[in-house]
Amino acid sequence: MVEAFAYTALPAKVVFGFGTLGRVPDEVRALGCKRSLVLSTPEQQETAQMLAGRLGELSVGTFAQVAMHTPVEVTARALGAVRDLGADCTVALGGGSTTGLGKAIALRTDLPQIVVPTTYAGSEATPILGETQDGEKITQRNMKVLPEVIIYDVELTLSLPRGLSATSGMNAIAHAVEALYARDANPIISNLAEEGINVLARALPLIMRNPQHKGARSDALFGAWACGTCLGAVGMALHHKLCHTLGGSFNLPHSQTHTIVLPHATAYNRDAAPAAMARVARALAATDAAQGLFDLAKMLGAATALKDIGMPESGLDRAAELAASSPYWNPSPIEQSRIRALLDNAFHGRRPEKP
Ligand code: NAD
Repeated sequence: MVEAFAYTALPAKVVFGFGTLGRVPDEVRALGCKRSLVLSTPEQQETAQMLAGRLGELSVGTFAQVAMHTPVEVTARALGAVRDLGADCTVALGGGSTTGLGKAIALRTDLPQIVVPTTYAGSEATPILGETQDGEKITQRNMKVLPEVIIYDVELTLSLPRGLSATSGMNAIAHAVEALYARDANPIISNLAEEGINVLARALPLIMRNPQHKGARSDALFGAWACGTCLGAVGMALHHKLCHTLGGSFNLPHSQTHTIVLPHATAYNRDAAPAAMARVARALAATDAAQGLFDLAKMLGAATALKDIGMPESGLDRAAELAASSPYWNPSPIEQSRIRALLDNAFHGRRPEKP
């Protein structure tokens, strides 16, 4: 029996395939724009310039100074470029950091956004923006920042290094896991979540063996869209709260932190959300959701201990305190001592607690 639910679909045009980068000029025109500004990190500047070249008269140039965690100083510089060049839309080519800058510009100018994602972070499908100011990351949900058009070009993901492919894929899976036990879960998003986990869990090991595997890359990018859509549609819980706390206060790398914390946050919620756990386990072809996620991270060769990605042991008490104060809604009650124990396991890279 389908339980009662409420669901609001988010408007966005999605173009998916190989070589779809060539569709960007048509999409700029379809938005009624003539002066696009292409955004990228310094590392992806060459591809951004190639895209600006392809756009020809439809582009006013590139802004290739994207930095992690969307610092407001970088946004201020980008806004200067938007003004000086008279840009009327942005094309963000890159991962979650680049998408973040496009969103930060849209928040302040209402300029339409085209996003060309090259990782599996999923930000392109959400109305969520996290920005950092004075070392503090502040996240907001605002429909102004939801990108109008997403162009997934599988070709662009072939260069994503193995390590980042693994952790970015686990970052995507985290959105879907939390969507399955969200307070506002609904059957549409839950089906997409299970599909997203399943497709990524099958594709990522193939990508580890051969990063040029086109079928696996295509599946993984589709999984990223599915999981990102889950993140945009329903509320997140303890896992995302922990990752925001660890990333924001201890400057830990984003997708690696998600990869390490996810099995432990899942174990924390195991008894409070049995139906969701059964779906996660089924999607992973595992007997237990938390153990299956840990095994997947290990199989992908990702780091499984916070101590190995720069977390100081002396910060664990503070992290537990921060995560327990103003918590997000969570299926299992938030108890600081249990969170401290969870963080201890994640710090040392232990297996999540057994059922
Ligand atoms: P990223 O965007 O920071 O990219 C990491 C590095 O990989 C960069 O140097 C980038 O240039 C490089 N790179 C990206 N794609 C590549 C490719 N195909 N080939 C070679 N190099 C490539 O990493 P990310 O994990 O995608 O994004 C993390 C950021 O996104 C965080 O700030 C996080 O908070 C944010 N995020 C936001 C949301 C949201 O809904 N608002 C969702 C997920 C992540």
